Amino acid sequence: MLHVETMRIDIITLFPRMFEGFLGESILKRAQQKKLVTFSVINLRDFSTDKHRKVDDRPFGGGPGMVIGVEPVCRALESMSRKKEKKRIILLTPQGKKFDQPAARRLARQRHLVLLCGHYEGFDERIKKWVDEEISIGDFVLTGGELPAMAVADAVVRLIPGVLGDENSAVAESFDNGLLEYPQYTRPAGFRGMNVPKILLSGNHKAVEEWRKQQALARTKKRRPDLLKGVS
Ligand code: SAM
Repeated sequence: MLHVETMRIDIITLFPRMFEGFLGESILKRAQQKKLVTFSVINLRDFSTDKHRKVDDRPFGGGPGMVIGVEPVCRALESMSRKKEKKRIILLTPQGKKFDQPAARRLARQRHLVLLCGHYEGFDERIKKWVDEEISIGDFVLTGGELPAMAVADAVVRLIPGVLGDENSAVAESFDNGLLEYPQYTRPAGFRGMNVPKILLSGNHKAVEEWRKQQALARTKKRRPDLLKGVS
């Protein structure tokens, strides 16, 4: 069933232009054209009270780098709709909970997400007052929250019903049933002595389905045995 309401994703960043290519291509572009999602990219500097549009300062207590202050973030968030219960404010941070497919599915059910991208040394701790959850895209440190915000937005938007052409294409994908996806092939059936498994050319849908299930299981067992803990 299609959502009647369009999902809204607001991205707060110091580098809005980084999102131009991302939002203007492929599935993300089509999802906006189909009015299944709308994006607003908000420049945090617009909420600075400083005449040079400065949003960061040196850390109290000393140490390297600059910290983004609580004031512009608070002003940016308070400029949005005041109904807090209706939007989910997400801070991208390497200190957050590691993002995965179940988290993407959970967020795809929300109507309004706000993605807060850090830079420099990150944010003044006090912004946490406004934050509903903290997400990390992995145990590594990037320069800014823009790439993590894109990763989260992409994973979420492709799960909104109607975004992908074939409704099933998000269903058999890796992680959706707790397994990695089975191997895929397309034409030609033979290439430099490498042949596509015969079963895929058999036209026997039941046998193909069984083969894929086995392949997905074997592949997951070999590459990601940790995922099998949750599969009965
Ligand atoms: N000083 C911070 C720390 O040690 O936790 C790291 C700051 S990082 C250089 C700058 C910004 O990039 C962060 O505020 C965050 O928004 C983003 N970022 C970096 N790595 C990330 C990750 N793995 N997941 C999500 N966001 C990340």
